[in-house]
Amino acid sequence: MPHRFAPFFESVVGQRGVIQRREELLVYECDGLASYRQVPDLVILPRTTREVAAVIALCDRFNLPFVARGSGTGLSGGSLPTPDCVVIATTRMRSIIDIDLDNQRITVQPGVINNSVTQAVCGAGYYYAPDPSSQQICSIGGNIAENSGGVHCLKYGVTTNHVLGMTWVLPDGQIVKLGGGPERPGYDLTGLFVGSEGTLGMATEITLRLLPSAQAIAVLLADFTSIEAAGAAVSGIIAAGIVPAGMEMMDNSSINAVEDVVKTQCYPRDAAAILLVEVDGSDTEVQATAAQVAAICRAQGARNITEAREVQERLRLWKGRKAAFAAMGKLSPNYYVQDGVIPRTRLPEVLAAIERLSQEHGYPVANVFHAGDGNLHPLILYNDAEPGALEKVEALGGDILRLCVQVGGSISGEHGIGADKRCYMSDMFSDADLETMIWVREVFNPQGLANPGKIFPTPRTCGESAKAALAGLPGAEVF
Ligand SMILES: Cc1cc2nc3c(=O)[nH]c(=O)nc-3n(C[C@H](O)[C@H](O)[C@H](O)COP(=O)(O)OP(=O)(O)OC[C@H]3O[C@@H](n4cnc5c(N)ncnc54)[C@H](O)[C@@H]3O)c2cc1C
Repeated sequence: MPHRFAPFFESVVGQRGVIQRREELLVYECDGLASYRQVPDLVILPRTTREVAAVIALCDRFNLPFVARGSGTGLSGGSLPTPDCVVIATTRMRSIIDIDLDNQRITVQPGVINNSVTQAVCGAGYYYAPDPSSQQICSIGGNIAENSGGVHCLKYGVTTNHVLGMTWVLPDGQIVKLGGGPERPGYDLTGLFVGSEGTLGMATEITLRLLPSAQAIAVLLADFTSIEAAGAAVSGIIAAGIVPAGMEMMDNSSINAVEDVVKTQCYPRDAAAILLVEVDGSDTEVQATAAQVAAICRAQGARNITEAREVQERLRLWKGRKAAFAAMGKLSPNYYVQDGVIPRTRLPEVLAAIERLSQEHGYPVANVFHAGDGNLHPLILYNDAEPGALEKVEALGGDILRLCVQVGGSISGEHGIGADKRCYMSDMFSDADLETMIWVREVFNPQGLANPGKIFPTPRTCGESAKAALAGLPGAEVF
């Protein structure tokens, strides 16, 4: 049966821009966190800022919750539909609007794929630095909403450091401009909207900073017989004042999964851990820094060090790391990935504690992480066919996140809170912190229609872990 509001949306985006057949709606029932599913009522595919504004104004008029969606690669259930919601997907918003090399900036629609930004300007000697491992498929709009990171964010900063301005549609359909010009006095609203996980409306045009490509790049692969030694090498490199362009670590389970699937044939299967370190700059700088990194790794017990300078060789070393999540399918039918952050210096003890938790809960954990900034990605391996397995791995994931908070870290480095981690917000923030954040959301999203049920804990869905004090807050129980 046609949706009763479909004709209103069709009048804005045309018939082909409205999806209402159940078999087509199923495509949008989840994001990368496939354990949570909810089929939306309608999916709308606008093409322009004006169409997004008109669609959101209709949601406001008919009191329909809406969920923005980019490529659906999010790992925290951020674009998971809520019951009776309209999904607004940006798959028809893939134009590059303007390239301004003189001012090192590019303006794009939100559906543009992350990697397409670099592809558009690399011929002229520029690139876009934030590079999530999903960069071949994730959208700039999704990156903005999650404040995504990537291998190169250690040196160059995460998404928020590369957004110069945005056109934004607020949850009542108003179009506003954020940032865009030279330094502006007043509140940093661009900073507030980046990382808002779809709860403050939608980005429809984004101006990004471009960086000149480095003259030279080297990637070093060092392998270690203990995780502690690899962790000590990470601390040693940072303590020497070196900020690598990227510094990633993989443990033995991840190395073997990747070698089984991607067959890089350069990750030693018997290593307890490998470290991938990228350095960039001028030729002389890269030569000197690469030698310094190699010396530090050797001093910490690295068995072998491979160095790659040529682009194909460098890509070969990175390929396994970039495919690490996908390779987990080789080890187990399902995996649940966490995204905690810890102070770098606590790495060895936290990894040992994760191993203890893994044994206590009875589920293996493979570790892949952005070692340079302490952003862990423990991958909990399980089989969804086993009754109750998901609840058990979620409990293990929760214990890992609490461990991160206990050692002075965070429950998310880059994947966002979404639907997945909102129950842990009260482990990290006080009631007053959460209340303040909810007030900010209320200023821009007073009806609670934009991506309801995300980020903040709700007593009904978070059970005991939600603070009772939140129950009375406006918007605290929107699901
Ligand atoms: C294999 C794999 C590897 C990954 N590696 C990384 C990594 O290295 N670093 C990292 O940070 N993440 C990583 N991710 C997670 C994910 O790719 C990022 O969070 C990405 O930014 C999501 O983009 P998307 O287009 O898929 O967004 P979606 O999943 O569609 O949406 C994500 C959030 O953005 C909101 N949103 C989407 N478009 C807009 C818009 N135009 N305006 C406002 N809100 C919007 C949605 O409502 C949702 O809350 C990985 C995921 C996978 C599957």
